[in-house]
Amino acid sequence: MVKGQTHILKQARCRDVTAWKISNLDESGAFFLFGKLRWGSHETMPCFHCGTVDSHYFRPDQFRYRCRHCCEHFSPTTGTVFQDHKIPFKKILQGCMAFIHAANGVSAHELARHIDVQVKTALVFLGKLREALFASRDRRKLRGVVQIDGGYFGGRPRSRRIRKRTPQQIQQHIEEKLKGDPGGKKFRSKINIENLARLKNRRVVMVLREVSPAEGVGGVATVIAVTKSENAEEALALALTHVEEEALIMTDENAAYNGLTAAGFDHRTVVHSIEFSSWDGINDNQCESYFARLRRHAIGVSHRIDPKYLADKAQEMAWREDMRHKTEGEKLQHLIAAIAQTGMSKWWRGYHQGHHRPGEIVWLLH
Ligand SMILES: [Zn+2]
Repeated sequence: MVKGQTHILKQARCRDVTAWKISNLDESGAFFLFGKLRWGSHETMPCFHCGTVDSHYFRPDQFRYRCRHCCEHFSPTTGTVFQDHKIPFKKILQGCMAFIHAANGVSAHELARHIDVQVKTALVFLGKLREALFASRDRRKLRGVVQIDGGYFGGRPRSRRIRKRTPQQIQQHIEEKLKGDPGGKKFRSKINIENLARLKNRRVVMVLREVSPAEGVGGVATVIAVTKSENAEEALALALTHVEEEALIMTDENAAYNGLTAAGFDHRTVVHSIEFSSWDGINDNQCESYFARLRRHAIGVSHRIDPKYLADKAQEMAWREDMRHKTEGEKLQHLIAAIAQTGMSKWWRGYHQGHHRPGEIVWLLH
């Protein structure tokens, strides 16, 4: 936060668009607002089919436009992830507002109650928003000061102390002990193998954050990548792909970043066992802020992150971090632009009919 300035969330301008204001609209009001957010105007708009910009005929009974030139029909959601939607425009906007208002994301169960839809509908709705944010992510190279770090997510084995045993397993344990098997070795090893198998789902979220030179502003652009481990090869490849050569890279003392200096980057490290920030300001605190938000999502909202959808959620949190200084209206405008830019959903269309995305999104393999 900039010193001497009121936090954005406490300013009245932050509430330029809210769920309350959307709830006061009728369906046609929501339709026109969606159109205005997508095209910048609800009076003239480009036809989706022939591209002619004109004031096309509005069909109030169908909530769509008819082109004055090619006579085809289209609506503000045509050619977006919400094409062929069955829920009203007002619910789409209210769902977007619930998504925006939540600091750490919103779960499908929670969203279902917000906008009165089935949980499976809310699940696909959130998936489509995340797909739009992933597809429209900023691909420019980071410059200036860039902080890099990796964090482990998912696949955590249960603590031994709280492992659960069925009454039969406890009985078996006692019997094996009585037979002379010290400590019930057979039983213990079986439980441990099952528990350790959870490690297969552990992934590393690598994060690269460009830090603003202005004091108190923090991270302004975030790039994420999901990898199997925090290794030197992928750390270097990520830096070469996403960071400009002249940038100053700050990391912790992990050996995975040792190759950055040899590759020509100005690389500085902070030793976390001694300090969070060195005397000359070397730190990776912006990466820690990002991980804190993703971890709050993992613990408090998702409860469990499937590696298949980790990249989607990591990208959502990157968007939240980068948009944290914006008003709710600016966030909605950005989200609708992402929705319009993405085109029809490739990952979530027909999800409940069995059309699932094959495999997870792991960096370098995708
Ligand atoms: Zn047309």
